[in-house]
Amino acid sequence: MNSISAKILDGKALAARIKEGLKKEVARLTSEGFTPGLAVILVGEDPASQVYVRNKQRACAELGIRSWKHHLPADISQEDLVQLVEKVNADPEVNGILVQLPLPAHIQTEAVLDVIDPAKDVDGFHPVNLGLLAAGRPGIVPCTPAGVMELVKESGVDVAGKECVIVGRSNIVGKPLAFLFLQEHGTVTVCHSRTRNLEEVCRRADILVVATGRPGLVHGGMIKPGAVVIDVGINRTAEGKITGDVDFASAKQQAGAITPVPGGVGPMTIAMLMKNTVAAARRTVQTLD
Ligand code: NDP
Repeated sequence: MNSISAKILDGKALAARIKEGLKKEVARLTSEGFTPGLAVILVGEDPASQVYVRNKQRACAELGIRSWKHHLPADISQEDLVQLVEKVNADPEVNGILVQLPLPAHIQTEAVLDVIDPAKDVDGFHPVNLGLLAAGRPGIVPCTPAGVMELVKESGVDVAGKECVIVGRSNIVGKPLAFLFLQEHGTVTVCHSRTRNLEEVCRRADILVVATGRPGLVHGGMIKPGAVVIDVGINRTAEGKITGDVDFASAKQQAGAITPVPGGVGPMTIAMLMKNTVAAARRTVQTLD
């Protein structure tokens, strides 16, 4: 076993640096009379969602971005929810719209997300933005995958020509991330629950990203010595502790660079949401120029 410990990719510190830069841009936009604004829509009382929304609003306040929280009852109809999205779409003060997921089971998530104006879709989940990403064209990039790419950059490893293995194929993490790695000229493999020989595929990776929601799925024995390991997972243990999808203790003995959980991808997701919101506001100003 490799006895050298990995470089820890500090997402919290990197996010703080990115937010510092954004704060200056928000101040500049505000001085021109265009304070960026984010509307957050929260449905129901899911405690984790409430924490996420609070953290996002806190980040807005820190940066000088205006935010509005629309907290709706869990039994709201899909029609009423769609109507609210249409209302914030039409509000010129709102540059970014975020519908906190998951939505209650009686609501078709896609039917709601598809109504968001793609120009205000700061989560980057709208099919228009996902399509632009797949085509390698400019659009709004989903926050968590964008944060992962920033962390990879922070590792100092150039993606071009590297074996990039992503474990997890969700529309919000794994799939968009595959396109981002392709854009950077990586050789991409996307794994999922039907993948055969997962351990072997992971061991090929120069860059390994794990986004499954399965605590400890990836361990040191699945990591090529010196690889960059990015752990997207957020899992709560029975004791209430947050852990990732990677067994950090064994993985850091093998990896060249690794993200911790918490303090890795999580803070970067919020920083990228802020970045997308500021960029959406900037584009509005440019349109008016
Ligand atoms: P999903 O549940 O939507 O997707 C999980 C993926 O993992 C699926 O593609 C699934 O395969 C795959 N998978 C599950 N079990 C295995 C296995 N044993 N072997 C290989 N693949 C497997 O999850 P999300 O993408 O939404 O989230 C993944 C994790 O990332 C969660 O812990 C979530 O909390 C976290 N997360 C963290 C964020 C952050 O800001 N840090 C943001 C978003 C998510 P299949 O498709 O075959 O079912």
